[in-house]
Amino acid sequence: MSLPNPSKIVCVGRNYVAHAEELNNPLPTRPLLFMKPPSAISYLPDVVIPSDQGECQHEIELAVYIGQPLRKVTTEQAQQAIVGYGVALDLTLRQVQSELKAAGQPWERAKAFDGSCVLGPLVSLNELENGGDFTIQLEVNDQTRQVGHSHQMIFAIDDLLADISQQFTLQPGDIVLTGTPAGVASLALNDQLTLHLSQGDKHWQWHGSVRCEA
Ligand code: ZN
Repeated sequence: MSLPNPSKIVCVGRNYVAHAEELNNPLPTRPLLFMKPPSAISYLPDVVIPSDQGECQHEIELAVYIGQPLRKVTTEQAQQAIVGYGVALDLTLRQVQSELKAAGQPWERAKAFDGSCVLGPLVSLNELENGGDFTIQLEVNDQTRQVGHSHQMIFAIDDLLADISQQFTLQPGDIVLTGTPAGVASLALNDQLTLHLSQGDKHWQWHGSVRCEA
C-alpha cells in the first residue's frame, strides 16, 4: 500500500490507566494530544537517541494510518478512514519533559526531536480481522518491558480520531499514535529491541537497534 508522506503525527498521552499511574499523572477526561513533525520520523531498525539530554525512554504504541481526510467527523466516519495499523516508538526525553512540565512549557523539546518517532511497517487492513483487539509488546534485550491491549485504552481508536478531527484535519498519510501501556524505561546504546503486533492468531514482529546520535 502506498500512502502520501504524513503531514504530521498526532500522539495521545495517558491513554492507558497503568501508564498514567506509573508517572503519577491524573487520568484525562478528554484525550491529551500533542504532535510530532515529519522530521521526527525514523524507520526500524534505526533507533537513534540523543546522547547528552538525560534519559531517553521507550513508549511502544499502536500506530493508526489514515487514508482519507478527516475533518470534524463522527466515530463511524473515522473508522472508515483507517487503512492500516502498525507499531511505533514514541521516544521521550523524560528529564527534559519533567523540566518542561514543571515550567508549564510545551513538550516538543522532549517528544518531537529528530528520530523521536520510530515507525515499523504498515500492516494493511486486508491482512487483519475487522474490529479485532490488538496486542502490542516491546522486548529489550529479550526481556519484556511493555505489553498493552487496545481494549485497555481509555479512549477507543475511533473516538480518538473523531476527537482529533474536531481540531486538526487528518490528511491521508497522517499517523496517530494511540498512547503507551505501562513499563516505560530508559534505552541505552546497543539495546536490541523486538516490537510485536498481534491480533487473534496473527502475529508480526520487527527488530530495532539503539545507537546514539553522533
Ligand atoms: Zn507516547
